Amino acid sequence: MRALPAGCAVPQEGELTRRAFDEPEHRWRTPFERDCGRIIHSRAFRRLAGKTQVFTDRGSDHFRSRLTHTMEVAQIARTIARALGLNEDLTEALALAHDIGHPPFGHAGERALDEELRRYGLRFDHNLHALRIVEHFENRHLEFRGLNLTLAVREGIVKHSRDYAAAEHPELREYFLDKRPPLEAQLIDLADEIAYLTADLDDGMEAEILTLEEIRGGVTLLERHYAALEAEHRGAPEKLLFQESLKLMLNALADDLVGEIGRRVGERGMASIEDIRNAEDRVAAFSPEMERLRREAKEFLYEKLYLCEDLRHGHERAEGVIRDLFAAWMADPERLPPGYAAQAAEEGAPRVIADYIAGMTDHFILETHRRVGKIAFSGESRQDRPAAGDQG
Ligand code: MG
Repeated sequence: MRALPAGCAVPQEGELTRRAFDEPEHRWRTPFERDCGRIIHSRAFRRLAGKTQVFTDRGSDHFRSRLTHTMEVAQIARTIARALGLNEDLTEALALAHDIGHPPFGHAGERALDEELRRYGLRFDHNLHALRIVEHFENRHLEFRGLNLTLAVREGIVKHSRDYAAAEHPELREYFLDKRPPLEAQLIDLADEIAYLTADLDDGMEAEILTLEEIRGGVTLLERHYAALEAEHRGAPEKLLFQESLKLMLNALADDLVGEIGRRVGERGMASIEDIRNAEDRVAAFSPEMERLRREAKEFLYEKLYLCEDLRHGHERAEGVIRDLFAAWMADPERLPPGYAAQAAEEGAPRVIADYIAGMTDHFILETHRRVGKIAFSGESRQDRPAAGDQG
């Protein structure tokens, strides 16, 4: 254990547990455990099961969805939080929420939505969209709108992966924009990297896009373990050597992160959340050597997997579907499901269309595209509106 000074962890009470609407404390659950529960029980969380992580429609049930990816991130993040003596419940809540703002079709979907919104001077940002989901679109409580999450969880949802300039985002002023987030939030982005760097090698092999030879030649972090295991277990099946190496690669990344955070906190004499908030940069980081290996693995995945010819067709189709739907609804916002049509009249169609699309699963958006396409291109009656089902 490399526990940090106790003051570096977000406490289970105090300012950061504040909710927008006051609620009585729970008898035995901490505020952040309650937030975990609210996120798990939300509709947006369930929809993660139907959203692409990297692969869509490639004929295997073994690829990660955003939901299983999220569970992997939560497991890794919680382990790191425990090793450092940080707030595990808060860390888990942030991991569970970290991808709920993602639109369908993975990063291709996010890019396409952002491009559409830019035409109207707006942007799509999955962190800010996640905040809209938990504050406005999830409605399951009698007394308040949204999930009424604690301040620490809302701050972490906004800031876990990037900082926002206070001058550009006055609406986020509550979230200490001129300061770093607590370590529990900082480590989410890195736990996310650890999860997908290893999982995407695995899924890339499963999809038969990556070969073991390519991975061994391009990812030192894996090859190191593979070569040692191969020498130690002569004749063992490649598949098991690969899986074992992935596991050791994951452990090496997590161990390094724990060690480096501990080292930085110690070296700088940090003892409180304020010290972490006021630091010039984020304290959570890999060691320089591991950072180099992480970058190598990530560049390998970009070149051989994320941007490969094999996946490009899917990306183009995703962009086309989003572009078509956006154009059809911009031309006639009345074709949106009634609730959204009313909201579009109030808030402006582009943002509301983006909210609606972002909430969709891969399956639902394809089905909607088919139906809306029929109306938009053949002039059928407006009775055939898409179901109002997917968001909220
Ligand atoms: Mg993620």
